[in-house]
Amino acid sequence: MRTFERFPNNSMCPICGTNDDKVCVLVALAGTQHDNIIEAIPTHLGCINLTYYDDISGEASMLLQKFIKKEK
Ligand SMILES: [Zn+2]
Repeated sequence: MRTFERFPNNSMCPICGTNDDKVCVLVALAGTQHDNIIEAIPTHLGCINLTYYDDISGEASMLLQKFIKKEK
């Protein structure tokens, strides 16, 4: 995952609700893919704390983070 040294001024991290100028990544927004393009949300790298889940069938796995979305 590509990291960016600057956080965009016009965006807000969905996890902490700030646009503090810290290292961030672009997190793909499910359901927005058109052809090979998908919308993404800038998110502070330091705010991400993922948990690994194996599907009960063992055929699929996920990385998840549940959080209370901060509104603008
Ligand atoms: Zn954040």
